[in-house]
Amino acid sequence: MTTTVTRVNVADLKPGYSIFGNKGNVWNDTAHIYKSGEGNLCGTPALSTNWARIEGVETIGCPNCLARYNNQPVSDDYIQQLAQHMVNTGK
Ligand SMILES: [Zn+2]
Repeated sequence: MTTTVTRVNVADLKPGYSIFGNKGNVWNDTAHIYKSGEGNLCGTPALSTNWARIEGVETIGCPNCLARYNNQPVSDDYIQQLAQHMVNTGK
């Protein structure tokens, strides 16, 4: 079974999103999508130097980031509603 992930060019990222990757990500072509103020979409901590930007990597390669980016709800409000819903229904 093959999962096709739509690759995203850095130049096509929506406002507020940028590329993030450490050296390993550059070598393996698995750069993440960094959401301004939040971090990488897949949850990988963005703690190292942003080598993907320094090296001029042009496409996002992290499958988890791409999946989340492509299914991204329209607004942050939606995520907050979901979080609130979880709080309300939590025991
Ligand atoms: Zn990622």
